[in-house]
Amino acid sequence: MHEMSLAEGIVQLLEEHAHTQQFRRVKQIWLQVGELAGVEPEALTFCLDVVLRGSLAEGAQVHLLREPGRGWCLACSQEVAIHARFDACPSCGRHQVQVTGGEELRVAELEVE
Ligand SMILES: [Zn+2]
Repeated sequence: MHEMSLAEGIVQLLEEHAHTQQFRRVKQIWLQVGELAGVEPEALTFCLDVVLRGSLAEGAQVHLLREPGRGWCLACSQEVAIHARFDACPSCGRHQVQVTGGEELRVAELEVE
């Protein structure tokens, strides 16, 4: 389950931020999860629950912000909504869509003390 290593990466990032920005506790975490990031939200929530235990963010509320997948269709020269990396363009049906958004997994915001 690669969500476990993602969760561990997030905790590591929080610890680095705590060091440079001098906070001791994380109370809430907002994570931006792109639709095309290849992350299963339920699995990520489960893994974070495990990994945050005993960390500076133990008991923190985790909010997942889903970011929709977007792409640029080269055939019809417009931005289209896609739900998987190799989706066809919803307007022309061709597979000439370059992903332009929704690939990220990142920490969007933190509430700390
Ligand atoms: Zn198209």
